Amino acid sequence: MSYVFPPLEPASVAILGRSERFPVHRIYCVGRNYAAHAREMGMDPYREPPFFFSKPADAIVPNHAVVPYPSRTSNLHHEIELVVAVGRAGRDIAVGAAMEYVFGYAVGNDLTRRDLQFQARDKGRPWDTSKGFDQSAVISAITPGAHAVDLQAARIWLKVNGELRQQAQLNELIWSVPEVIAELSTLYQLQAGDLIYTGTPAGVAALGSGDRLEGSIDGLEVLLTSIG
Ligand code: MN
Repeated sequence: MSYVFPPLEPASVAILGRSERFPVHRIYCVGRNYAAHAREMGMDPYREPPFFFSKPADAIVPNHAVVPYPSRTSNLHHEIELVVAVGRAGRDIAVGAAMEYVFGYAVGNDLTRRDLQFQARDKGRPWDTSKGFDQSAVISAITPGAHAVDLQAARIWLKVNGELRQQAQLNELIWSVPEVIAELSTLYQLQAGDLIYTGTPAGVAALGSGDRLEGSIDGLEVLLTSIG
């Protein structure tokens, strides 16, 4: 194969304890997967189930990065999330088989231009510019293993400048990890290399230049990010 210009290197994520990296195929995200966050967005989680959107693979930002404050927003929000790294291809996956598709887990931050998201929502327009912008998918290294995280008991939390902003227990997810994988696999052919941001708990809020973010999930690396 020859190309008219050299293709970009695929986006990839570090794996704890391994020299090889995880090549990113697609980034899927779940919207409103914690009831308290759905309510803070003005929605009733029992009338409107969670749903999916996506980000481009090259929106990935590694741990310890400085993320430039993005253009065209004055309301950049943090969303700390459990990220599932998919290790096998599959479609129409049963809930009971879904854990076999998990390569590992990471801590993610689904950075959001909240002002553009609300404009899009109110006008019934797509979310791409509010969610899928450059450097919007912050992620820690991946901890390998389908059981590396206790999906019942583990806590997820985020501090901004040392102050706790978001915290929850993973068993508060409306769609559990196996349910997310099963549901997503009825919409898309999942591939090894897919990442799934599983949704954020309540407490999302605005970020400013110079903010220092520290977040994690029990069993995973701490994700450190600064806003430039
Ligand atoms: Mn999110």
